[in-house]
Amino acid sequence: HNHIDHATPDKVRAAIEAEDTHAHIPDYQTLAAYRSEGGYDTLARLRDGGDWEAVQDTVLSSGLRGLGGAGFPSGKKWGFVRANPGPRYLAVNGDEGEPGTFKDRYYLEREPHVFLEGMLIAAWAVEADRCYIYLRDEYPASHSILRKEIKALEEAALVEKGYIDLRRGAGAYICGEESAMIESIEGKRGIPRHRPPYVAQVGIFDRPTLVHNIETLYWVAKVCREGPEILSTVDHNERKGLRSYSVSGRVRNPGVHLLPAGSTITDVIEAAGGMLDGHSFKAYQPGGPSSGLLPASMEDIPLDFDTLQPHGTFIGSAAVVVLSDQDSARDAALNMLRFFEDESCGQCTPCRVGCEKAVKLMSAETWNQPLLEDLCQAMADASICGLGQAAPNPIRSVIRHFPDEL
Ligand code: SF4
Repeated sequence: HNHIDHATPDKVRAAIEAEDTHAHIPDYQTLAAYRSEGGYDTLARLRDGGDWEAVQDTVLSSGLRGLGGAGFPSGKKWGFVRANPGPRYLAVNGDEGEPGTFKDRYYLEREPHVFLEGMLIAAWAVEADRCYIYLRDEYPASHSILRKEIKALEEAALVEKGYIDLRRGAGAYICGEESAMIESIEGKRGIPRHRPPYVAQVGIFDRPTLVHNIETLYWVAKVCREGPEILSTVDHNERKGLRSYSVSGRVRNPGVHLLPAGSTITDVIEAAGGMLDGHSFKAYQPGGPSSGLLPASMEDIPLDFDTLQPHGTFIGSAAVVVLSDQDSARDAALNMLRFFEDESCGQCTPCRVGCEKAVKLMSAETWNQPLLEDLCQAMADASICGLGQAAPNPIRSVIRHFPDEL
């Protein structure tokens, strides 16, 4: 008889930990360092008879909004989830698959316990039975840090063993969509669900589920500890709060730049050290490929939730890519559609077939604009989820702002 060595969870865990040797682990704030400056005191105070509605009010009054891209006022969902009987779960969306976005990684690799405390505060607020962290597998250092620090939390008896369940993504962009992420957490193929019902009512294993992005929870902890003013008093271009812009492209210092929420692309480029030598500013992607491209002439729009809507786009997760005179907007848009074609989950026809058709039409020497516009309309109107609905944005933005390239 062949001996079949069924992998037990412990063996799986050991095998995963053995992989840690490959990851470069940056210096980060450990549990001991965080606690020495008062970390987890807020959580302890709240667990000891705190009022969740008062915490919700604090978070709402800070003006914090969901930083995964949707911009829903943070804290508001807590009431929706609590309105449903338990057991309830909390799911943390750390898939961070939007091209050009790397802010969650930035915070995890520096202050993982700020995020973890924010998560445990939100879990306390909705009386969650378990927290699932869904982290993209392309972040080996973040995985390693979280594995180690979750263990340290268990050993310090700040959480029960197994209360925080760290899951690995498998490279599918669509698993950043919250209902697809939930399918994936359940061990199924990651495809978006139809809504309603919303995940606040029917989420992981059909239980009410609170979903938050990593950076959102980082700010929940900061706001609960330092007060809502740390965000609500930051005022720039009539916008409140702070944004972590992930900046890449033709700038001198790409990276995460924490700036006032009302910053314009001019402010962002300046914070990133200006344009690279020999490049002049031509265009920018304000918030991931789904947001399309804007021309340099539209340089004075505050890059925040709501402010970009009148221009047919949105800030999303604040993934700013700066293009120069050496780049083609048309080529950039084709690149974005190729990405959507690869990442479409294939569940619905307008997106699965639409992305493929769009790539073919955009690869032609001359764009058949009426046909592309029809296709964009069908995709935006009839796709199930945001991927297919927003995939036409790069096409529309090139037709609208860069007609000379067509
Ligand atoms: Fe899947 Fe695209 Fe349909 Fe979304 S729009 S469900 S990604 S096929």
